Amino acid sequence: MQVFKFGGASVKDAAAFRNVSFIVQKHSVSGQLLIVVSAIGKTTNALETIFGLAHQQQNYSSDFFALKTYHFSVTQELFPEKGNPVYEALEHLFVELEEKLQNLVPDKFDQQYDQVISFGELLASTLLHHFLKAENLPAMWLDCRKYIQTDSTWREGKVDWTWTEKLIQRDLPEMLKNQIIVTQGFIGGTSDGQTTTLGREGSDYSAAIFAYCLKAQSMTIWKDVAGLLNADPKIFSNTVRYPQISYQETIEMAYYGASVIHPKTIKPLADRQIPLFVKSFLDPESEGTRIGNCPHEKLAPAFILKQNQCLISFGVKDFSFISEQNLSTIFHVLSELRIKINLMQNSAISFSICTDYHGARMEKLMETLRDQFVIQYNISLQLFTIKNYDSESIRNLTSGKEILLEQRTRNTYQFACRA
Ligand code: ASP
Ligand code: MG
Repeated sequence: MQVFKFGGASVKDAAAFRNVSFIVQKHSVSGQLLIVVSAIGKTTNALETIFGLAHQQQNYSSDFFALKTYHFSVTQELFPEKGNPVYEALEHLFVELEEKLQNLVPDKFDQQYDQVISFGELLASTLLHHFLKAENLPAMWLDCRKYIQTDSTWREGKVDWTWTEKLIQRDLPEMLKNQIIVTQGFIGGTSDGQTTTLGREGSDYSAAIFAYCLKAQSMTIWKDVAGLLNADPKIFSNTVRYPQISYQETIEMAYYGASVIHPKTIKPLADRQIPLFVKSFLDPESEGTRIGNCPHEKLAPAFILKQNQCLISFGVKDFSFISEQNLSTIFHVLSELRIKINLMQNSAISFSICTDYHGARMEKLMETLRDQFVIQYNISLQLFTIKNYDSESIRNLTSGKEILLEQRTRNTYQFACRA
């Protein structure tokens, strides 16, 4: 059996849905298939805006209306026949979503975020399920919240693997015998029936969870690029595709911020030696990339950019050195606030970290540590990483940039600079 993941771009309009159906049709004849789908187009961003407005008790109705119109215009193109049950199913979801938005309470921001933002995937999977059925494919809709079990770490649910695998193994092999399962990416559920999300762009991870639990033959991520490239073609020119690459290399690239695959995706696949294919939905017959257990020669340097970075330096207040005790204090607060370090370095009297910028969390960090350290910071920075660098790639990338922090290991070169 195989797991396919279709991201937002692959279902952004009616033509894209038809293309997905074409790909599914082609593959479903050769074996069992489970499909994980993300919210269509930029729905998740739109939902975040709506949720933000609703949370501040501002008027969200025009954004809500736009989102609804978007979904129904795709639907109308796909289902000219008005009586199709998809209309009622979507209408029902929008009513439920609006109810949630109208009943927000001031605290519990993260918890309510999950209850609201998850609707993107519920809508997309409903739409895809009905469309595949209309195309005479034996599709069924699966509520993944009943299978992917997480704790209640809102916005980043931690998967209960034992329980999740048990539930999936209990039901899905039987369902897959004669049906194509269509389910949601990005979301999960707690044991008391609340919806959680797995972190932005988490649908890849969802697909890997299903692949792992079903011991799938392979997993495929269908993207708008030709495979796993050495850089994002929207940012860098002259990109090259890796025809095959190891789990290890991929996991590191994802860790440094290559947005092509969610960082948590690789581990479950590597644990069960399930190959991951990254293929273009625009050119489904082309080779793409195979990620697996493969040895390879020196790879082309990979370039990764993380935007909106914050560089924070913690200095000691007397003239003592930065001690393990100081570091332990800083790490403890970072972990409490769920601030992730992208790069760190220490000198005799200060310790510096580069992290993604989150206004509220930064303020809390300053507030907590201000008494013990002299804190300096810069925001709106860029963090570049070159994996498998050579001197030419470093020269080209750093040229003309004002570097605030840099670090070089045997394989990786990183620097933070002004944007
Ligand atoms: N729709 C979600 C997001 O945009 C999950 C995903 O696309 O993987 O973050
Ligand atoms: Mg998405």
